Amino acid sequence: MPSFDAILIGGGTNGLACAARLAMKGRRVVVLEAGAEVGGGAGSREFAPGYVAPSLAHTTRGLDARVVAGMDLARHGLVFHPALPTVVLGPEPLTVQRGKTSGPDAAAYAALMARLGEFARVLAPFRALTPPRLTTTGNEWGRLARLGLGIRALGKAEFREFLRMILINIADVAEDELSDDRLKGLLAFDATLGAWLGPRSPNSLILLLNQLAIGPDTLMPKGGMAAVAQAMARAAEAAGVHLRCNATVARVVVEGERAVGVELTSGEVIRAETVVSAISPRLTFQQLVGPRHLDAGFFARVSHIRSRGAVAKLHLALSGAPGVPDLRARMVVAPSVRAVEEAFNPVKYGEVPKAPVLEFVLPSAFEAGVAPEGHHVLSANVQFAPHAPKAALAAARTEMLENTLAVLEAHVPGLRGLVVGAEMLMPQDIEARFGMVGGNWHHGELAVEQMLFLRPLREAAQYATPVAGLFLAGAGSHPGGGINGAAGWNAAERVLAHG
Ligand SMILES: Cc1cc2nc3c(=O)[nH]c(=O)nc-3n(C[C@H](O)[C@H](O)[C@H](O)COP(=O)(O)OP(=O)(O)OC[C@H]3O[C@@H](n4cnc5c(N)ncnc54)[C@H](O)[C@@H]3O)c2cc1C
Repeated sequence: MPSFDAILIGGGTNGLACAARLAMKGRRVVVLEAGAEVGGGAGSREFAPGYVAPSLAHTTRGLDARVVAGMDLARHGLVFHPALPTVVLGPEPLTVQRGKTSGPDAAAYAALMARLGEFARVLAPFRALTPPRLTTTGNEWGRLARLGLGIRALGKAEFREFLRMILINIADVAEDELSDDRLKGLLAFDATLGAWLGPRSPNSLILLLNQLAIGPDTLMPKGGMAAVAQAMARAAEAAGVHLRCNATVARVVVEGERAVGVELTSGEVIRAETVVSAISPRLTFQQLVGPRHLDAGFFARVSHIRSRGAVAKLHLALSGAPGVPDLRARMVVAPSVRAVEEAFNPVKYGEVPKAPVLEFVLPSAFEAGVAPEGHHVLSANVQFAPHAPKAALAAARTEMLENTLAVLEAHVPGLRGLVVGAEMLMPQDIEARFGMVGGNWHHGELAVEQMLFLRPLREAAQYATPVAGLFLAGAGSHPGGGINGAAGWNAAERVLAHG
């Protein structure tokens, strides 16, 4: 076994980005991935014989520009299809792309999205920033202040509007600016996707801005979402990273209050000067490090990191093409703000919503070979699903599937008759299969009280942790999840800065 300078725990897209960056700077790096393949949420799976679906993520808003350029992902085979339009399904479907749409609200929607796009543009640089320590002065705050100046450059009136809007909820913004329920429902859905809040919850607008800051488009790579991880894996290996799959880390080895390596479930111990965990922060501290090596107060705060997932994953095997307006679009079923709010309310009490809201794509319309000839695969992100159902998990899963199929049938008549296989993953299933605590999209809720210098916790917000030599690099760190690699890249920069 060769020796390594750094061990990456978890071969998701953040782990791969971090590993590649470290290797490019001359570190000898090994990635230890529990699964049979790297990719994490950006993988693919045969969920029914002959039908292959994205494991979790089915589109991306775009990868971090530093990751794309630094890993030269185009050279390693990553190419995207043209950006997908969004079709809001309903009695009169509405197509939306990059702020452009038709109907009575076309001009108001374009103006609103232009303004939100401008706000997102000034927020985008925050994503590449190591959050400053609350207690320090000097350089770090200086960088934050410079970014703040970017916001001030919006001009006085827009700056005031920016401050007003980031504090309010998406429902109020949608109601104030638009009249078309289809557009209001779409905004409410997009702002809350992956979050544990409804459109009337405070701060829901900032989550939409964060998504727009990643990118304005919905993108599907050629070869499916797993192609992102495959290109990253090729780039990492080209940089000298050693990838090991079927290697589950059981614990971080700590000696003299310093992380010095890891022990696999097989009992094998691998040592390195630096250990970087690109899995959930709660799992990292609670299971891999353990209370013995952590301050009691910090350990208690780890268990308070909120990590409630509310997205269920539906995969359908279809015997033919569903009757949707555009097979190569992202379809959204979110008829109004109220519909999104009413889908959220029951999950607060561990119940399954009667009428979930959802987005779906048909990966089979983009790639041959993921379904038998003439058949299709439907991949949906369904909101909201209880992370701790009051009923038994199996009963909640059945109810979620039944209610989602009823919603789909109402919007795509005849769809049920095409279903030859179905898989519904509840947040608990996602936790068990992917190690995402609570099934949460971001490995820990992305909410104002868990953002920037509070993500995942004040003591670990700069990617370094209270255990010397141990760093975090996954979605649970700033700037959160999604398939983009930003957290992993930021973490690598921090490891390198530590020398
Ligand atoms: C239902 C659902 C749908 C989603 N849809 C989208 C979408 O359409 N678009 C989008 O951009 N994002 C989507 N996301 C979010 C996205 O999947 C995650 O934010 C993203 O995968 C996080 O990347 P990561 O590299 O930080 O972690 P992960 O992708 O979770 O990767 C972590 C890796 O660590 C491995 N691991 C865990 N424990 C260990 C261990 N002990 N030892 C070794 N390896 C270990 C896991 O096997 C995994 O491969 C979705 C999330 C959910 C829950």
